[in-house]
Amino acid sequence: MQLDDLKIKEILVRENYLAESDAKAAEKIAAEHRSSLTAYLLSSNLISQELLGQAIAESLHTPYADLRAHPPTKEMIGLISEVMARRLRVVVYKQTKTEIFVATDNPEQEGLVDQLKKELEAAKIVIAYALPVHIDTTFAGYQKGLETRFSEIIKSNKKIAPELVNQIFEDALTLRVSDIHIEPQETRALVRFRIDGVLHDAGIIPLEYIETIINRIKIQAKLRIDEHFNSQDGAIRFTSVNGGPPTDLRVSIVPTLDGEKVAIRILSNYIRELTLSDIGISETLSARLQESIKKPFGMILVTGPTGSGKTTTLYSLIKELNTRSVNITTIEDPVEYKIDGVNQIQANAQTNLTFAKGLRAIARQDPNIIFVGEIRDTETADIAVNAALTGHLLLSSFHANNAAAAIPRFIDMGIEPFLVSSTLELVIAQRLVRRICNSCKVSEPVSKARLAKLGIVANNLIGSGEHTFYRGKDCPKCSGTGYNGRIGIFEFITVTPELQDLIARRPSTKEISELVSKQKFVSMFADGIEKVKNGLTSLEELLRVITAQ
Ligand SMILES: [Zn+2]
Repeated sequence: MQLDDLKIKEILVRENYLAESDAKAAEKIAAEHRSSLTAYLLSSNLISQELLGQAIAESLHTPYADLRAHPPTKEMIGLISEVMARRLRVVVYKQTKTEIFVATDNPEQEGLVDQLKKELEAAKIVIAYALPVHIDTTFAGYQKGLETRFSEIIKSNKKIAPELVNQIFEDALTLRVSDIHIEPQETRALVRFRIDGVLHDAGIIPLEYIETIINRIKIQAKLRIDEHFNSQDGAIRFTSVNGGPPTDLRVSIVPTLDGEKVAIRILSNYIRELTLSDIGISETLSARLQESIKKPFGMILVTGPTGSGKTTTLYSLIKELNTRSVNITTIEDPVEYKIDGVNQIQANAQTNLTFAKGLRAIARQDPNIIFVGEIRDTETADIAVNAALTGHLLLSSFHANNAAAAIPRFIDMGIEPFLVSSTLELVIAQRLVRRICNSCKVSEPVSKARLAKLGIVANNLIGSGEHTFYRGKDCPKCSGTGYNGRIGIFEFITVTPELQDLIARRPSTKEISELVSKQKFVSMFADGIEKVKNGLTSLEELLRVITAQ
């Protein structure tokens, strides 16, 4: 039973998960954001997936199965045939000697238990409710490896190229891949997927099919198939057989010595589901962020090295700001995610559409909010500050090691300190740490000796007394690494009147650090320690990424 928004609202209010007034307000905002009520409640953290699932389960008088926190193993998924699982929307998620626990998003369908009894030959079956999105995810467990499907397709003599390319795209979406690489080698082509920042081998294409497959991709991306010696860029809009909105794929083809190499960036839809808390922004920081983005003008900079998740943070912010009453225009290189209702411009060096040029054009287009991919030269910095001064909220990424260092660096680009002090609203710095795998997470007490080694700063942050930290042991879900996915650690510098005065005097990084440490500043390391304590990441991982400051 795919519950509709109305029914869900009714349940949440009736079971006291949400006040009627909050529900009404949320409904209104959801409509403005062109989003469903459930999606809005989840993305704005008014309710967690867990609570939503529990509320629905409670109203159906069944237990709730949190399949995200406790995903079923491949063996459990395999206990029910794929056809039946998809028809009844069921999955086995727990098993004891006498009972089999089955989760479904439709517990009220007729004859459910009888059909399951036949399939599972079990004496006792316990039915639980799980959210539809989690049930869908478990269906991926029926997939054979890409490799096996490749050879099946080749044997079947169907339209090999379209079938193979579709399989690659479908798998990439299911596995939440960010990039697909098709790399030619002497005797074959290797298909690789980037997941959570790491490349994994996904399959091999035999030599004789490579050309037709690359041609297929070129045709879909509207590129020239007779061009083999120049690089080409294009885009594909792909709709999965599983339904859902189409996904935009950005295709880049470059000639190498072994043949043409294809790289495809997935401008993913799952960014739509990302919330500030999903990316690791704590409630306290989130509140400060809301404060800053409420103002109609000013500048927000997100800093960190390449690969620190800046873009994801900026997109989550834009998503937060994206309502019908404002115009948001961006200039990006590249456009990584398509966002509904936002005017996105791709910077293009070949046509001389630089950040600076694009930004100047955008400022004349009367937007409320402007996002510039990156400020990396004086000209762009100059126009950005001007835009922020003249009634626009400007968001950008900026290269700096930490939030305090970003300010002198920005002034060093040749911008007048008083202009920086009067436009800069918030500086965010961030890094990414790997998230402990939920399926094999274990706790471990921390010895005093180990803490002593960390130094004074870390110890002050961790605090005295007994502590328990966590780590991932090793399981198939995380391929034995103990980690699954990544999460950001953040620091925010809000520009207060005191800091404004200081900025106007061309301060050093040290002077800024000293001032903010007397204000409500939480360093990236301190934020990381909180995440260690909460079991989101491990101490080793935090220390790998950042040192105590
Ligand atoms: Zn694991």
